[in-house]
Amino acid sequence: MSERTILDLTREELSDFLREHGAPRFRADQIWHGIYRELASSYDAITTLPKRLRALLQVELPFTVLVPVDVQESRDGRTRKVLFRLHDGETIEAVLMHYEKRHTICVSTQVGCAVGCAFCATGKAGFVRDLTAGEIAAQVLHFARELDERGEHITNVVYMGMGEPFLNYDAVMRSILILNDPAGVGLGARRFTVSTVGIVPGIERFAAEGLQVNLAISLHAADDELRNRLVPMNRRYPIAEIMRACRTYIANTNRRVTFEIALIAGVNDAPDHAVAMAKLLTGLLCHVNLIPLNSVPGIPFRPSPRDRVEEFAEILQAAGITTTVRLGRGIEIQAGCGQLRERSLVQ
Ligand code: SF4
Repeated sequence: MSERTILDLTREELSDFLREHGAPRFRADQIWHGIYRELASSYDAITTLPKRLRALLQVELPFTVLVPVDVQESRDGRTRKVLFRLHDGETIEAVLMHYEKRHTICVSTQVGCAVGCAFCATGKAGFVRDLTAGEIAAQVLHFARELDERGEHITNVVYMGMGEPFLNYDAVMRSILILNDPAGVGLGARRFTVSTVGIVPGIERFAAEGLQVNLAISLHAADDELRNRLVPMNRRYPIAEIMRACRTYIANTNRRVTFEIALIAGVNDAPDHAVAMAKLLTGLLCHVNLIPLNSVPGIPFRPSPRDRVEEFAEILQAAGITTTVRLGRGIEIQAGCGQLRERSLVQ
């Protein structure tokens, strides 16, 4: 298989490729439109292309291989999780979540993850490899096709699945560029959210891009001692450095940062933890999402009870911090990060 696939290319790169092969410029627009607007999953479906060009493309720029091998849907039908097999046999997960007016896709950026968060199924299984930009875009296109059949379309893409996006920075940003292209899927920059555990050089680079793409930080704790235990990467990039990088992002983009806090019973959910969090975040242009942890088999952490989550939220809100409680939707379909893949590995 060729190393590059069609989904790894920007529209400009596709134009260059076609020019080098003597094809007219308008073919790039036809192909781009076929893949990202008509949502074709093969060259044969782009019937406007001459046979010879199709044959060339199939060899030189094949479609990214992403085969759905397991699908789970929540009982209320609002969350759909798919396990995909890649060309080398590795597997990744992506999730489609329906909200009132939004259809959000949560994509993976790596096979496995090297960060090793104490509560995470993906971290438990270790790191295998980075995904390509094409493999990231292909997850979005899979769900775009499903939605299209129902006359609906994607409204948001969040980089919150398996993997740490800023440890695969170039592929992540390239996939955003491809999906943001107005001649294709055309999702506005503000429709993307990249979520990191706090890889400071990645945040700084992201801030310098000058894009309107949203930044989310999986924070989980306001003090380094506790955070070192939950997110081992914190030893390398402690909270003060993460906050400094977030301030740069805010100054450059004028966008608020979202802080994600997975609340774990008896670990980080006490009122004192909430007070410390409020102190850390006061005065920052930000939003907090509180998410009761998804339980992972084999990991001894449990979600915080509802009253604890609400109390935590009240303390933050009283300090003037906009806070949303996200109920762990999709838990029954193993929609927690890496849980479906882990199940497939042990079967
Ligand atoms: S929570 Fe995210 S960053 Fe942490 S180990 Fe899991 S996939 Fe990696």
